[in-house]
Amino acid sequence: MFLKGKTAIVTGSTSGIGLAYARALAAEGAAVTINGFGDADAIERARTELEATSGAPARYDAADMTKPEQIAAMVEATAAAQGGVDILINNAGIQHVARIEDFPGEKMEAIIAINLTSAWYAMQAVVPLMKKAGWGRIISTASAHSLVASPNKSAYVMAKHGLVGLTKTIALETAANGVTVNCISPGYVWTPLVEAQIPDTMASRGLTREQVMNDVLLAAQPTKEFVTPEQVAALALFLCRDEAASMTGANLSMDGGWTAA
Ligand code: NAD
Repeated sequence: MFLKGKTAIVTGSTSGIGLAYARALAAEGAAVTINGFGDADAIERARTELEATSGAPARYDAADMTKPEQIAAMVEATAAAQGGVDILINNAGIQHVARIEDFPGEKMEAIIAINLTSAWYAMQAVVPLMKKAGWGRIISTASAHSLVASPNKSAYVMAKHGLVGLTKTIALETAANGVTVNCISPGYVWTPLVEAQIPDTMASRGLTREQVMNDVLLAAQPTKEFVTPEQVAALALFLCRDEAASMTGANLSMDGGWTAA
């Protein structure tokens, strides 16, 4: 339990990769604030489970990551309850698949707000706390799409490329303060976000569901397997270790070889 006494916020952690991060952090003793939308009973079950695993308080904060004042309030509330925020994982994200000529502007704006701008506001809120404490870990879930593009994902690719630039910049601003700032870039992980894009990918490329699964998703990854949420979470745990203190400003791929190809 190397994170006993530490406090973490994981945005977008009511399902998928975010919930796996929260579980991994709690298993190492961290007090975790989870965030995101979903069924209230399922969220409460997750919160209770995290508390039981970590032996530390677990909180749920319903902050909408498109609202800067709610992001700041979530950080303030966690810090007030726990005495600080040591780990921030920017993970909330949405996706939309359409050719640019069919892409609603408001969808593009929402993708940028949730996947990118929210991370800027969350970093703005936690950096002073981490600098004061002289220790901090900021991790953002980027994507293989932070390195390579795919057709029909203009807003998502733009957001994830932006996250890498944000990560490098804040890494430089905090490097002398014991704070590291990194991205993890997973390939395809089977979560509600990937499942939801299948019908749009079928429509925009004229493919069957089976063709999308085999010829688009799994074909991108030389391993021919989905990455698992637990694998991604294990990498985040490594970044929280003291052995990772010299790793900052990095974008770490875990993508079944996708971006090597
Ligand atoms: P998911 O849909 O399971 O999780 C997304 C989370 O974000 C949920 O908890 C959801 O409630 C939350 N969320 C959405 N809008 C929000 C808002 N306005 N405010 C607060 N929370 C909000 O999907 P996932 O695949 O686990 O995605 C998590 C992250 O991983 C995303 O940033 C995604 O871009 C990234 N990612 C996913 C994959 C993949 O293949 N699944 C690959 C690379 C990167």
